[in-house]
Amino acid sequence: MSDKFDVVVVGAGLAGATAAFVAASAGQQVILAERGSRPGSKTVSGGLLYTHALARLWPKFWEEDPCPVERAIDRNVLTLLTPDQALSVDHFDARFGRPPYNSFSVLRSRLDPWVAGKAEAAGATPVYGVKVDGLVREGARVVGIQAGGEELRADVVVLADGANALTARRSGLEPEGDPRHTGVGVKQVIELPPGEVDKRFQLTGRSGTQYTTVGFPTKVEGGGFLYTNRDTLSLGMIINLRSLVERNVSMYDVLEEYKQHPFIARLLEGGSLVEYSGCFVGEGGYDSLPPLAGDGYLLAGSAAGFFLNTGFTLRGMDFAIESGRLAGEAAVAAVRAKDPTARGLSGYAASLEQSFVMRELREFRGYPSVFQNPRLYEQYPRLAATLLDRLYSVDGRGRPPLRSVLKETVRGGPSPLDLVRDLWSAARRL
Ligand SMILES: Cc1cc2nc3c(=O)[nH]c(=O)nc-3n(C[C@H](O)[C@H](O)[C@H](O)COP(=O)(O)OP(=O)(O)OC[C@H]3O[C@@H](n4cnc5c(N)ncnc54)[C@H](O)[C@@H]3O)c2cc1C
Repeated sequence: MSDKFDVVVVGAGLAGATAAFVAASAGQQVILAERGSRPGSKTVSGGLLYTHALARLWPKFWEEDPCPVERAIDRNVLTLLTPDQALSVDHFDARFGRPPYNSFSVLRSRLDPWVAGKAEAAGATPVYGVKVDGLVREGARVVGIQAGGEELRADVVVLADGANALTARRSGLEPEGDPRHTGVGVKQVIELPPGEVDKRFQLTGRSGTQYTTVGFPTKVEGGGFLYTNRDTLSLGMIINLRSLVERNVSMYDVLEEYKQHPFIARLLEGGSLVEYSGCFVGEGGYDSLPPLAGDGYLLAGSAAGFFLNTGFTLRGMDFAIESGRLAGEAAVAAVRAKDPTARGLSGYAASLEQSFVMRELREFRGYPSVFQNPRLYEQYPRLAATLLDRLYSVDGRGRPPLRSVLKETVRGGPSPLDLVRDLWSAARRL
């Protein structure tokens, strides 16, 4: 094995494995370094993959054997929770359950080895079970990686080691995360008896449902999710770090409380916990992105801060795949031009700008501030659920006219001025 490579990729998640696949497919000598004993063994993700970015590389990937995905999601449910109530916007679209499919539930323990396998088949050399400790520098230029006291040199290093971005942060290439814009994510995989997922969620074939929830457990900024896999459920939450610290609550307690909610508990009943993981998420969006490239290196995926939560969709995986693809292409171009400097790698930022990654992050750049509104997690879910409660409750005394019900519900809720302000703020950023 040569002691200098064209490209070294740190992290065999979706961004890293995709970058390795693209560079190896172009004939480059590529190392794919991963701290886990196998790809996917250390990754944390809720697991709803929007199909388009992966399908661009492998059209009809869902037909492959082994199949890397779980269920085609054709029912998306957004649920507001109060301690006792749930109010849902339930969207079913049969077209989402047919090719080209809108999204799939995935388990990263299956998907990551599948993508990394493509990179290996294209010629990338896997180095798994090895934690990268730092970068080798010559002046300001990155010329390789350090792992276990050894050095591995390369023209270009692709940093795709996930949201903690430790390799870049330890080397001063990326600033420390701001707690106001950092989420703590936890995820559990819960196994149900065979056939129970279909029965409980009224699913047929490979169709699936995903729930996104806002509100309960109250007083913390964040939300929960529950996705159906083949025989398991993926359940978790992402909560703002500052909000957890200010309210002095542990993520573990919040998740346990969430699982006890009557609406959620009945979906989990009889299930057994088979996986538990957690990690940070950079929620700052477009305005918090670090420099994406420099002399000898590129940042891809969540190490670059590519993550977008609009309330309806939670996305990082399609951004990771697309940025990995573009990082791979930029590395190949720089190696071929024998110019792995910041200038030689500048095509990366340019192609990202043209891609959906930057377009959508820019479009939703105001979103992080929309979610820093405590009314969203307490008052609005309560307001909406109380209104519905009053409309559905029958006690034999007769129901007052709708106008009075509305007036009574709004009393004690957000002020009309807050309501207008919040609606305007959300609408402007949509
Ligand atoms: C709770 C939660 C729920 C989420 N839900 C969704 C969702 O439903 N849909 C969606 O699209 N996105 C979701 N995301 C975001 C999504 O998981 C990430 O955006 C995505 O995983 C980023 O991929 P990546 O390849 O950049 O990084 P990662 O998937 O984090 O991969 C990084 C890889 O680098 C390896 N690594 C780290 N450090 C080192 C080192 N020093 N040396 C070697 N290897 C290293 C890790 O082991 C890992 O394999 C969620 C995130 C969280 C936390």
